[in-house]
Amino acid sequence: MHLFIPGPTNVPDAVRCAMNVPMQDHRAPDFPELTLPLFADLKTVFANGTGRVVMYPSSGTGAWEAAITNTLNLGDRVLMSSFGLFSHLWATMAKRLGLDVICVEREWGEGVPLEDYARHLGEDKTIKGVFVCHNETATGVTSDIAAVRAVMDAAGSDALLYVDAVSSLASIPFEQEAWGVDLAVSGSQKGLMMPAGMSLLGVSAKALEAHKSSTMQRCYFSFEDMLTSNDLGYFPYTPSTPMLHGLRAALDLLFDEGLPQVFARHHRLAEGVRRGVDALGLSLCALDPKWHSDTVSAIRTPEGVDAGEVCRIGYSRYRTSFGGGLSKVAGKVFRIGHLGHLNEVMCLAALASAEMSLADAGAKIELGAGVAAAQDYYRSATATLEAEAGAT
Ligand SMILES: *Cc1c(COP(=O)(O)O)cnc(C)c1O
Repeated sequence: MHLFIPGPTNVPDAVRCAMNVPMQDHRAPDFPELTLPLFADLKTVFANGTGRVVMYPSSGTGAWEAAITNTLNLGDRVLMSSFGLFSHLWATMAKRLGLDVICVEREWGEGVPLEDYARHLGEDKTIKGVFVCHNETATGVTSDIAAVRAVMDAAGSDALLYVDAVSSLASIPFEQEAWGVDLAVSGSQKGLMMPAGMSLLGVSAKALEAHKSSTMQRCYFSFEDMLTSNDLGYFPYTPSTPMLHGLRAALDLLFDEGLPQVFARHHRLAEGVRRGVDALGLSLCALDPKWHSDTVSAIRTPEGVDAGEVCRIGYSRYRTSFGGGLSKVAGKVFRIGHLGHLNEVMCLAALASAEMSLADAGAKIELGAGVAAAQDYYRSATATLEAEAGAT
């Protein structure tokens, strides 16, 4: 099977093998030798200098909840936006948890509405939290987090900034400290190349301070129990030790390649896919190139071609999993996830399989056109890379 969904992503052999370990004593005196370097290295991945990173045994959704309940009070007013399934779901959760949510609705395919954020923050000084989905996985849209921080600063807002970085962390640049992100939510099964089951939360020094006076109900996910144990290299409850070994291996792979190189690779792979999509005469769900995501491309099928059928054919005839269109864009888009453990040739395979599936579903496309455009781009981009490496 060929897995091109935007999470879970392909797990490298090194990570899979690292998780195949006998169970061990998580209260042993030498256990911190495994865990303390993980906490330190995760801070590098989040670019979080003065805060903390905590890990929970949950999928990313659990860290969405932990970010809210650890830092806010019931009834607090927060500013959010909805322009895809994930941004929509986080806003829904905030309402269900009892926050007073201002949610700016946008067309699916757009990114964070900066002008609306500026207006709300200028008019309403009671806003306690500003939320953004960095990479909206349903539509393949990346938003500019530094610009959100700039809007908050210009309005003199002292709200906390909450960012969903589940499908961006460790794949495209993320700068928690420099962007003034207070709560950065992520998960194990996307850029970190692990199975689902671990969520990660980057917490700023300011968020740790806010935690002390926050009164929302929380228990299992509470920062204080977690951080007190983590300080010593332990957890307040039983951690999944195989996952911690997997994380070690995944971080080693990321650091061996180099984070800037990892980001450059994701950009290169995504650009090839986009050129392929363009050459097929198709368009992306993202409505402006400034929002193009380097981790997932949501591709609109031509009028009359059911995107669900493209996915079904890909899976049953060509053993390829594409992401389906979610909710509002069901039947209209299919998605190629190009994040994690992936290279140029794998992306060419994804395009080749997408072309066959599209043609079988009735799309009038020229077989090979997308692959050829991507090949051209990959050839020149990798030649440039080689020349640069030779020059240094
Ligand atoms: C995958 C994802 C999540 C988290 O989903 P889980 O299934 O709970 O891990 C949240 N936000 C975005 C943008 C995602 O891509």
